[in-house]
Amino acid sequence: MNSARAAGGKAAKGTGVEEVVRLADALRAGDRRALARAITLVESSRADHRERAETLLERLMPSTGKSIRLGISGAPGVGKSTFIEVFGLHTMALGHRVAVLAVDPSSKRGGGSILGDKTRMESLSNAADAFIRPSPAGATLGGVARRTREAMLVCEAAGFDAIVVETVGVGQSETAVADMADMFILLTSPAGGDELQGIKRGITELADLVVVNKSDGALLPAANRTAADYRRALHLIRPSSPHWRTPVSQCSALDGKGIPEIWSIVERYRTTMTASGAFAARRAEQARAWLWSEATENLLAGLRSHPGVGKRVEEIEKAVAAGKLSPTAGARRLLEAFEG
Ligand code: GDP
Repeated sequence: MNSARAAGGKAAKGTGVEEVVRLADALRAGDRRALARAITLVESSRADHRERAETLLERLMPSTGKSIRLGISGAPGVGKSTFIEVFGLHTMALGHRVAVLAVDPSSKRGGGSILGDKTRMESLSNAADAFIRPSPAGATLGGVARRTREAMLVCEAAGFDAIVVETVGVGQSETAVADMADMFILLTSPAGGDELQGIKRGITELADLVVVNKSDGALLPAANRTAADYRRALHLIRPSSPHWRTPVSQCSALDGKGIPEIWSIVERYRTTMTASGAFAARRAEQARAWLWSEATENLLAGLRSHPGVGKRVEEIEKAVAAGKLSPTAGARRLLEAFEG
């Protein structure tokens, strides 16, 4: 993205570098409106907004990184929002500031988007030390993931030290969330016939903690069985880190039982992983992967919008689709056109 384009944009007046500096200062000072505005800015895909978002993030970078980043995934109905609300309130009671972000590539699904429903997490969203942000609508998973990573940095700069990134167990969103979290928590509930679905899909391998929610009332015996099944299964799969054995914990988000224990596990995880160097190593690896995904995306966008390539795309795509040209040769031709 070039600055000439940004400077020529409609938003140039009063929204230049000084405006971004003011925004950065205000959000670091705890201004919630500034925080919401900053996140709206990083979520925008407009070229001039992207430019300003980059400037903003550059300014904020020194104030980022001091949180624990928790990824939480679970199928619809396991109790994610109920859990995040009581977990968030508990965490806040311990003196932390909690931000909840969502990665939901299917936010157009029926029943409203994840976190989009106003009745969800009501007490948490009204709390002064919490911030809840629904998933940006109308973007691909890649787009949502990038914006969520940036929103996470913005929240850290605003002083939030516990970031929860929530996703539903669909598609590749879990991998995307695990890739941006320090700790990935798989939330489950007492299983029925499709027991241990997660294990079949390989999500359990990503988990640093498995929580069986709804361990209460009539569901308790089934919850105990589900927890035992996960413990057995976890013995059979490679640990997410050589420094950490993924525990299986039980709780009831409804009556709050087991919630403090889960926060204790989070703290133990952080201490253990930090001491072994794995915490910093994971973040460094995530940042490197992010760098390359940004570079790849920008390069691809450059390739697609290149005039020389544009002229030839249709013809090459057609030949490849018709089986007249191999995809490898087609790709080489596109790159030759790009390189001029
Ligand atoms: P989500 O779709 O994963 O966000 O799930 P929700 O938080 O909306 O919860 C789905 C349903 O499960 C709701 O009816 C909740 O009241 C119920 N629920 C959530 N947590 C618990 C729990 O710990 N125990 C029981 N018995 N029900 C729960």
